[in-house]
Amino acid sequence: MGVEVMSAANKLKRIREAYIKQLPSQLEALRKGYAELLKSSCSLLELENFHRSIHTLKGACASFGLKSVSTIAAAGEELAKEAIKAGTAPDTNWHQNIQSCLNSLEEAATSMDLSQTVDTRAIELVAASEVTGERNQKLIYFCEDDSYQRLSLSTQIECFGFKVAAFAELEQLSNAVQSSPPDAVIMDLVFPDRHLGGSETIESLRKAGCTVPVVFISSQNDFKSRLAAVRAGSSAYFTKPVNVTELSATLDALTNSVAPDPYRVLIVDDDPHLSDLYSTILQSAGMTTTVVNDPLQVMEPLLDFKPDLLLSDMYMPGCNGMELAKTVRQMGTSFSIPIIYLSSETDTGKQFQAMRMGGDEFLTKPISPENLVAAVAGRAGRMKAIRSFMVRDSMTGLFNHTTSKEYLEVEIVKAQRNGAELCFAMIDVDRFKTVNDSYGHQMGDHVLITLARLLGQRLRRTDIVGRYGGEEFAVILPDCNISEAVEIMDQLRESFAALRFPAGNESFSSTFSCGIAPLSIFKDVESVCKAADTSMYRAKEGGRNRVVAAKGGEK
Ligand code: GH3
Ligand code: MG
Ligand code: MG
Repeated sequence: MGVEVMSAANKLKRIREAYIKQLPSQLEALRKGYAELLKSSCSLLELENFHRSIHTLKGACASFGLKSVSTIAAAGEELAKEAIKAGTAPDTNWHQNIQSCLNSLEEAATSMDLSQTVDTRAIELVAASEVTGERNQKLIYFCEDDSYQRLSLSTQIECFGFKVAAFAELEQLSNAVQSSPPDAVIMDLVFPDRHLGGSETIESLRKAGCTVPVVFISSQNDFKSRLAAVRAGSSAYFTKPVNVTELSATLDALTNSVAPDPYRVLIVDDDPHLSDLYSTILQSAGMTTTVVNDPLQVMEPLLDFKPDLLLSDMYMPGCNGMELAKTVRQMGTSFSIPIIYLSSETDTGKQFQAMRMGGDEFLTKPISPENLVAAVAGRAGRMKAIRSFMVRDSMTGLFNHTTSKEYLEVEIVKAQRNGAELCFAMIDVDRFKTVNDSYGHQMGDHVLITLARLLGQRLRRTDIVGRYGGEEFAVILPDCNISEAVEIMDQLRESFAALRFPAGNESFSSTFSCGIAPLSIFKDVESVCKAADTSMYRAKEGGRNRVVAAKGGEK
């Protein structure tokens, strides 16, 4: 872990060093710009170019904590602005000021100390988020004296992707928690030899400094039992028979194992060092980024990357931020994408105008990493929430039919472009009508939600899961060959079949049938779908509760 923390901190440091290294050539370009300005007898066009260059320099230097250069550049920018505003050729006094500004810039740049402190807040932020790290399997300790319940509940919780260590005795659990603490504990309340043994044991662990979240399960539903659990610092209390779906949702929340999809941010800035800096900061906060340094190249990533937010510089050659926003807004698919400008423009009138042209927020460079992350996360989060109403099925939270189909098209194009394999699986719950008829529609819904959660939790992050219809689900498995796909889906099938759904005094289980088709044999969306569907029906005919791979030429 220590190595990773260093790597991100080092990355920020390297970006800054790279920026400082190229600073002399950037200043040289600025001088050339000034020469062009003279050559053109201070045409408005060259004045504007010069203004843009020095403005960019100011913003970038401020962002990299190079205060001395940025302050001088700011003075130069004011001069350039004045000249543009005046509309007449600047006088000799102005030229003298500009020249001394260019000289001071070069002086400041050469006397710069490379070891000068980097913005440590940025590094701390990166470090903190890296420590939280990747999602991995969470470890749950489960203490229950009854051997049947111990085995049954352990197995079911494992079906949701947790790693479970089960203990029959309180003392065993207590020792285990102290020697290597788990991510959460599930504790039975009542033990044969000690009436409230569960809560008492947790209470003494708490006294010894244990902070692990604890969920109690019990067949007791009286206030006294619940109070005992609360006093032991319980996070939740479930009565038996335990609803495993709800228990696993609680464990998820307590152990934080369901990481939300990262926000996708498209960064448009003509300065590669700055875009690299923003990108590193946002990535360190768990976001996914794509960088475009030429605003004219923004179309492709807008369509391919499908960002949740556009973070754009204001002054760029070829197309400024306002024009970019307007153009993007005129594309039907990007009409509602939030746009945040990041610029060293401090003129509120200009900022206002930029917002009118379609921006949502104006951030002034330099911006602290915390503020950048907060602004982006706020806007992107709302966008994602709005979008999820359109693309997700409200009951299961999975992608709806239309979106699943769209993703299948996108993934197939991607796979074909990369010469990679892809498999498409269709799932249909077996005799689901009987579940509804026997246990009610609500219980039917519960079964579907459970299956959806199971699919979502057990598949890889790159896999796409959708609710294809009532009790039908679709899974897209990119970079996966047919034998791997069969193995994965068969494991899921087993896990699902192992779950017991409590219904009154009894319980029941449910199964599904699954058909899978590989892209290498069925070359397009239609054929892949048809082949997966046909195979699914073969699974039904073959007796249900099975996974069938499409045969070679199946249509
Ligand atoms: P088979 O094994 O052949 O697939 O049998 P089946 O009973 O699952 O198949 P059938 O297609 O005849 O029935 C599907 C049932 O699923 C009918 C419908 O009422 C039910 N269903 C569809 N959507 C939902 C839902 O959202 N909630 C509930 N509870 N039931 C649903
Ligand atoms: Mg069906
Ligand atoms: Mg069915």
